[in-house]
Amino acid sequence: MEQEPKAPPHVLIFPLPAQGHVNSMLKLAELLALAGLHLTFLNSDYIHDRLVRHTDILARFAGFPGFQFKTISDGLPPDLPRDGEHFMELFSALKSVTKPLFREMLISGQLDSLSTGGSATCMIVDGILSFPIDVGNDLGIPVIHFRTISACSFWAYFSVPDMIEAGELPIRGNEDMDRLISKVPGMENFLRCRDLPSFCRVRNMTDQNLQLVADETRQSPRAHALILNTFEDLEGPVLSHIRTQCPKIYTIGPLHALLKKKLGSRKSPMQSQSSNSLFEVDRSCMEWLDAQPSKSVIYVSFGSITTMTEDEFTELRHGLIASKKRFLWVIRPETVTGEHGGGQIAAELVKLTKGTGYVVGWAPQEEVLAHPAIGGFLTHSGWNSTLESIVAGVPMICWPYFADQQTNSRFVSEVWKLGMDMKDVCDRVTVEKMVNELMMERREEIMKSAVEMARLARKSVNEGGSSYCNFDRLIGDIRLMSKGGRKVSPILD
Ligand code: UDP
Repeated sequence: MEQEPKAPPHVLIFPLPAQGHVNSMLKLAELLALAGLHLTFLNSDYIHDRLVRHTDILARFAGFPGFQFKTISDGLPPDLPRDGEHFMELFSALKSVTKPLFREMLISGQLDSLSTGGSATCMIVDGILSFPIDVGNDLGIPVIHFRTISACSFWAYFSVPDMIEAGELPIRGNEDMDRLISKVPGMENFLRCRDLPSFCRVRNMTDQNLQLVADETRQSPRAHALILNTFEDLEGPVLSHIRTQCPKIYTIGPLHALLKKKLGSRKSPMQSQSSNSLFEVDRSCMEWLDAQPSKSVIYVSFGSITTMTEDEFTELRHGLIASKKRFLWVIRPETVTGEHGGGQIAAELVKLTKGTGYVVGWAPQEEVLAHPAIGGFLTHSGWNSTLESIVAGVPMICWPYFADQQTNSRFVSEVWKLGMDMKDVCDRVTVEKMVNELMMERREEIMKSAVEMARLARKSVNEGGSSYCNFDRLIGDIRLMSKGGRKVSPILD
């Protein structure tokens, strides 16, 4: 008797609604869809609306059978800016509003597979959210955590309770921020107070934000497995520490490079310009870059949620102009807090530089970093930006804004030797000096490590490389889970 062909596994993907998180989760979704899995991608209404307005995601994913987008409320009013200043409001709204909705949507079948009508056989959820683990346990659906930050900052978050117990936290008033921290295993020789994730910069250990991030991070060992967007040659030592707590880890990064590899010749010209951006991409900078000499331009971008004061903006601007280097600067309309909007600031800046500077509201960043005219990146050290720079072999000046970025920038400068850390400083003299060091005086030394790390990154996603093989293992594991079956009725609270 012929056996009915078994339906492919159905994976529910649920990112934290923020640019960097959605970006890497969409890349993972595309990789899983290419491997033939059926997927439901759950976006917040706010994020989905912006993606549909500014990208080709609907057309891109329509090509995959069994793929569907679903949306859920993030619990915030639609007109509230989703920037760094409101990040914690987003977290509490997710817990109070989104969590019960998520559960209800799963139970009522609203997230069932488009093609087979079956429920999810596995969930891959943002590792900063632990509530889906509880819901998954109740419903008998295995949950894999995908933490979209670096392994080094994950480990620093994980170690927060140990730092508190040892009296290394809180950071007291008049504290020497260069004091070394001894309770993040493996980082004893170089991790200073100022390099801890920004949420540790509080005097009170009951601080809600610190508690939340530290508590959620400690939940990851309860997940079936942990996916990290990194690669073994970059973060091997810290990964071995994390494995003592979370033994099943899939390092499958840099995801954007793995996706590019797997798409290979399938990639159409349209797809090579695809983005997962929440903002309108201004491609005019590519033409401007085409007209610039090789390695002459410093790309300046602080990601999707960084804000800065007018004073900070003024110092950066003076420093860049004084360096006499060409620059391409991304200034989102809400980047600079205060009375002037981004548009006016950008127009004034372009006039001032007389053609050696170019400003856009949002750039096609991966393409920009790969352009031969780019010689350096002044970045906020967001993890996606850091990985994109590593793959492109572009050295960095780091000016971290918040969260994991303080730790990433320490690793970029001190461990990987891929650039310089301008943390906690923003004055024109330092900006000018660092730009000149990166582009000229220390260029040879830094480029040596940048070229080597770019080679290792590419090796990891090539056939037989660690991330390439780990991705195949992940697919195998997901297929196995779908054979396990699930409980029929949910355990309600
Ligand atoms: N990005 C972009 N254009 C820009 C600035 C950023 O496409 O002008 C993309 C960038 O390539 C990266 C993401 O936005 O993939 C930012 O993520 P990251 O983790 O670096 O920072 P976040 O925005 O989460 O702070």
